[in-house]
Amino acid sequence: MAQEQKRPGYDDTPFLPDGKYRVHDSARPQPRVVAPGTESTQERPGAPPSDAVVLFDGTSLDGWLSMDGSPAKWKLEGGYVEVMPKTGNIKSKALLGDCQLHVEWAAPTLVKGESQGRGNSGVFLMGLYEIQVLDCYDNPTYADGTTAAIYGQFPPLVNACRRPGEWQTYDVVWAGPRFDGSRLGRPAYLTVFHNGLVVHHHAELIGRTTHRQLAPYAPHPLAGPLVLQDHGDLVRYRNIWFRPLRGYDEP
Ligand code: MG
Repeated sequence: MAQEQKRPGYDDTPFLPDGKYRVHDSARPQPRVVAPGTESTQERPGAPPSDAVVLFDGTSLDGWLSMDGSPAKWKLEGGYVEVMPKTGNIKSKALLGDCQLHVEWAAPTLVKGESQGRGNSGVFLMGLYEIQVLDCYDNPTYADGTTAAIYGQFPPLVNACRRPGEWQTYDVVWAGPRFDGSRLGRPAYLTVFHNGLVVHHHAELIGRTTHRQLAPYAPHPLAGPLVLQDHGDLVRYRNIWFRPLRGYDEP
């Protein structure tokens, strides 16, 4: 008779506060196995993790649209896409809810303009909440508009900018807001790493991000597109992917 394999763990330990599982519970579901990706270098982007949804891999803009729904008009080059000024923002066809997001971008090598006029673009979660993209390498501007700021709300904890022209990374943990009918049930939370340094740690967003104003939350669905901003500067993007986030014990 085949011996039944006993799952490692315990069934005589105290229950955790949620009452579902015991400490070291042998019946608690195992985490999914995911093959991690590889780090990017300046020369080439890394590989996304095995369960990532790839939004842009450098070969095609098929996953993106102009804001009016027509094909995205930004310039696809070897392995990256560059803002085509005056063609407007672009949005992903895929809709993102709570997720881990990875974005790589580079400000123009040719330094032009100052303050908000130098290498400006932006990464908008759900098209509403902007993580600022800007060249703040030796370029002062208002603090809540610097590189990696949650625009108009929170300056990054540090300025982790690389030189213009170099590839930079944003790694984001996004927990979108929840609405209870027309009322806010729970605000949005953002954690952001810029070039591997934590610049926002569970920041509680005040509302939508805007210029020179405060904008309250307004109800919207649980998922929305990722939007990249055309601010007229020749900012480049590569290697954009996300992983939907679910609760600990959900399959
Ligand atoms: Mg911007």
